[in-house]
Amino acid sequence: MVTAEAVVDLEALRHNYQFFKNRCKASKVVAVIKGDAYGHGAVEVAKALDCADMFAVSRIEEGIWLREAGITQPVLLLEGCFCADDLTIAAKEGFETLIHHPEQLRDIETAELEKPIKVWLKLDTGMHRLGVHAEEVADYVDRLRASKNVDGEPGFASHFSCADDLNSPTTQSQLERFLAMTAPYPGEKTLANSAGALYWPEAHFDYARVGIALYGISPDENQTGKEQGLKPVMTLKSKLIAVREHKAGDPVGYGEIWHSGNDTRLGVIAMGYGDGYPRLAPEGTPVWVNGRIVHIVGRVSMDMLTVDLGADATDKAGDEVELWGNHLPVEQVARHIGTIPYELVIKLTKRVCKNYF
Ligand SMILES: *Cc1c(COP(=O)(O)O)cnc(C)c1O
Repeated sequence: MVTAEAVVDLEALRHNYQFFKNRCKASKVVAVIKGDAYGHGAVEVAKALDCADMFAVSRIEEGIWLREAGITQPVLLLEGCFCADDLTIAAKEGFETLIHHPEQLRDIETAELEKPIKVWLKLDTGMHRLGVHAEEVADYVDRLRASKNVDGEPGFASHFSCADDLNSPTTQSQLERFLAMTAPYPGEKTLANSAGALYWPEAHFDYARVGIALYGISPDENQTGKEQGLKPVMTLKSKLIAVREHKAGDPVGYGEIWHSGNDTRLGVIAMGYGDGYPRLAPEGTPVWVNGRIVHIVGRVSMDMLTVDLGADATDKAGDEVELWGNHLPVEQVARHIGTIPYELVIKLTKRVCKNYF
């Protein structure tokens, strides 16, 4: 018997991928499945997206896991290879790689590869985390074009820092810098993440890289994915393991951080930070129980959390509850906790059983 489970709706996933194929009509859509597909299970997600143009991961091992599972589509390494050996593996596996610093360029120039590798030059357009500067681009392009290890023209990639904020002027300036830096060259371009794909059509270019929104989650914290036409992919469920009479004035849980103002019934749910549910979830964080929203009271512990069901509650031990998903948007839960949905879905531990349908 499974207690805590993350139900992953692969139909919803395919719906969301198709949503971006329609939204980015002239572009290919890269399904970003780093971090075990944001906690949804990379192999299962990749298998369900057999229609995907390309997958993207952050570490070479994530790409290897896909190949070992029989995934044959193109795979893009978002931060490139971190050493010469990885480059050899990437070429062998048919991965595409980004480069953003001189050692990676030198590795490409000096490697003996099984076959040439498609290379994307990462440009710093304002994020200032990774990427080459404007004045370095020409030298990188010349050297990549001269290398026998590079398959075709180098492509160009960059990343937005504020695309989820529609009022930020940064995105427009990143877009302009990207266009200026790539103007002399014919290579393919990729700039948009989920927020770029949703809100900045000028940024779609040849490939849109969609991560969080693929899972039905809005990159903009003031909206839910559902409001944008996406379907939530993950529903996190567990069960009530006790319903207890609770007296006015009594505390509950570690540190006695909450005392009830009135006589009530408390529900104890088998879900805690041992499952990846944040310990810092404050009083008032919503949980869906039997068709209504109730709220967390007291401290989240390793294996349990407590909710105030109300004095008239008829809920009983064994009833199913939803921590986020279909009835309760993960965006709303994240806002209460003071984090982003990305962190909630990716942090689930292996005690939470993933079930696919
Ligand atoms: C993670 C990542 C993405 C996807 O971002 P989302 O906000 O999840 O859509 C796109 N590009 C790069 C380089 C990334 O690291």
